[in-house]
Amino acid sequence: MPALSEVLAALDVLWPPERAEGWDAVGTVCGDPDAEVRRVLFAVDPVQEIADEAVRLGADLLVTHHPLYLRGTTTVAASTFKGKVVHTLIKHDIALHVAHTNADTADPGVSDALAGALDLRILRPLVPDPSDPAGRRGLGRICELPHPMTLAELTAYAAARLPATAQGIRAAGDPDREIRTLAVSGGSGDSLFDDVRAAGVDAFLTADLRHHPASEAIQTTGRNRPPALLDAAHWATEWPWCEQAAAQLDAVSDRHGWGLRTHVSRTVTDPWTAHAASAPLTSPADTPHTTGAPR
Ligand SMILES: [Zn+2]
Repeated sequence: MPALSEVLAALDVLWPPERAEGWDAVGTVCGDPDAEVRRVLFAVDPVQEIADEAVRLGADLLVTHHPLYLRGTTTVAASTFKGKVVHTLIKHDIALHVAHTNADTADPGVSDALAGALDLRILRPLVPDPSDPAGRRGLGRICELPHPMTLAELTAYAAARLPATAQGIRAAGDPDREIRTLAVSGGSGDSLFDDVRAAGVDAFLTADLRHHPASEAIQTTGRNRPPALLDAAHWATEWPWCEQAAAQLDAVSDRHGWGLRTHVSRTVTDPWTAHAASAPLTSPADTPHTTGAPR
């Protein structure tokens, strides 16, 4: 059985911590480097229900995409939610390791897994990492659909292919527009609108889109037709990475004869838990007047 320090060294090769953004907090949150590792659990969020799942599973290491502490703290008291996670893990000899923006830009990274879940053909990174001469690393991916679809069809397709969440998928743009090329970026992607527009793709799938940036992004300016937008649940866009990451660690384990058992959490930790569609949209002529003279 490998020591935690050996497994962590392997994870740092897959997702080098020095490639994380300056504001990020990646790496090992807790764990004894000399402890032995047999079971590893991968999950998106280091929340209590995932820590409890790691305990039930008998995991020795929990690898999450999101950091537990993004900023400094002065307490890990179990009366705080994050402190309780730390207590739960340490009490059960479970290490916690985070691969966040260093996994986003890796090759393969978070957006490769997202593109894979959608069965897309990956062409190149949306925002290439200038330090990678091969041009394979970077943020987001520009892809081709397996076959052209309307935006409405693509929305339903993405909802069916990504892990199920209460939110599902919503789209912005003409539902009948034909989509052939799609940029994807796991997690919050609305800072990438300029790159998406410059790439000239038909649509962009990401998460956490807000009214004003989305409304502006689909307005026509210049020569390129603005991309349609697909807004998925943040968790759903990043969960496919957990399966990819577990498979990567499996390969390392096989190479070293470690015999690690890797697991991927199926617990949905997207914070949104319910959704109701509005009454069916009616044509403008049927819409009650909300302004003008009272009738
Ligand atoms: Zn995220």
